[in-house]
Amino acid sequence: DPVLSPEFHELLAWADAVRRLAVRANADTPDDAAKARAFGAEGIGLCRTEHMFMAPDRVPVVQEMILAETREEREAALQKLLPMQQGDFYGILKAMEGLPVTIRLLDPPLHEFLPNLEELLVEVTKLRGDPQADPERLAEKEALLAKVRKLHEFNPMLGHRGCRLGLVFPEIYEMQVEAIFRAAAQLVREGVDVRPEVMIPLVGHVNELARLRKLVDEVAQRVMAETGTSVAYTVGTMIEVPRAALTADEIAREADFFSFGTNDLTQMTFAFSRDDAEGKFLPHYLESGILPDNPFITLDERGVGKLIAMGVAEGRKTRPNLKAGICGEHGGEKRSIDFCHRVGLDYVSCSPYRVPLARLAAAQAQLRHGSGFDNLSENR
Ligand code: PEP
Ligand code: MG
Repeated sequence: DPVLSPEFHELLAWADAVRRLAVRANADTPDDAAKARAFGAEGIGLCRTEHMFMAPDRVPVVQEMILAETREEREAALQKLLPMQQGDFYGILKAMEGLPVTIRLLDPPLHEFLPNLEELLVEVTKLRGDPQADPERLAEKEALLAKVRKLHEFNPMLGHRGCRLGLVFPEIYEMQVEAIFRAAAQLVREGVDVRPEVMIPLVGHVNELARLRKLVDEVAQRVMAETGTSVAYTVGTMIEVPRAALTADEIAREADFFSFGTNDLTQMTFAFSRDDAEGKFLPHYLESGILPDNPFITLDERGVGKLIAMGVAEGRKTRPNLKAGICGEHGGEKRSIDFCHRVGLDYVSCSPYRVPLARLAAAQAQLRHGSGFDNLSENR
C-alpha cells in the first residue's frame, strides 16, 4: 500500500469517523480486490463476471457454448468453464474475507462473445470465390456464418443481454451460481468468512427476477447440501433499466438489495449511447453547452436521480430493510456521491483508485447535510 502516506491515512480515518455512506469497490480479480482493500473499500459492490469469460484461453469454450445447438452441447461446454469460474470466485472471496462481495451474473450482449459477422462474411466470400479452396473448410465456415447470423442483433445493448441471457439459457447462470457456492464451500471449510451477494443484471420486470432468484436459491441449496456447508448469502438486482426503477415496489419483493447501475440507467433515460459517449456524437453535442454536465460523469439529479430516489423509496415501502447502493461510474464522482448520501443509499461502489476520494466525499456529504435524507427538495 505505498500510495497512501500516513498523513493521508489519518485524514481518511477522520472522514471514516464522520461518513454514513459505506464505500465499496468495483473489482473483478483478486489483485484488484486486494488493491481495493488497501484503499479502504468495505466490500465489493460489483464483480463483473464477463471479463472472466473473455480470457483468451476461455473464448473458444465460451463460443462453443453460445453456438451450441442443444442444451446438452451447451452444458458440456459449461462443465469445462465451471472449474475456472470456481477458481475465479475462490480468489476474489478469499481476498475479501469478512466483507461482502456482490457477484453479478453474466451481463454483456451476446455479440461480444461471437465471431465478428463482417469478418466472417469477408472470409466466406473469399473462400467462395477461390477455386482452390478446400470445400470442407468452406462448408464449415458457411455453417458458422449461418449460426452467427441467427444470433446477430441490430441493437445488442437492447437485446439478448443480462438476465435475458440467463432466462433463455438458464444453464449459464446455473453454472455460475454453482461455481460461487462451490468456491464459498471450499473457503468455509478452510475457516474463511465469506459473504457472497448474487446480483442479477438488467432486470426490468419482477417476473425476471422472481424466476432467477428461484434458480439461484435452488442451485445454492443443492451445492450446500452436497458439500455439507452453510453459506450466508443474499440475492439482489441491478436497477439499470428505467422500468425497474418505476416498478421498484414490486421488484423489492424479490430482492434483498438494489444496486443502481447508472451507466445503463443514464443511457436508457437520456437515450444516449454509452458506447459512443467518449468518441463520437456525445462530445460534440456537449460542446454546444446544451447540457450542464456530461451525464455519464456527473449524475443527472433531475432525471436519472429522480429514478434512483423513487426506486429506493418505493423499494423500501415493500422491504424496509432493503440495502441499496450504486455501482455505475458515478459512484466515484464527488457530486454524485453527495446525491447518493441525500437519497439514502447505503453505499457507493467505485474503482479501487477512487475509494479514498469516495471516503472523503461521503464525509463531506454528511457534514453538509447531516444524516437526514429524503431531501431532494433542494434540487427540484
Ligand atoms: C451500469 O450499468 O451502471 C453498471 C454498473 O453495469 P455495466 O457498466 O457493467 O453495464
Ligand atoms: Mg449495466
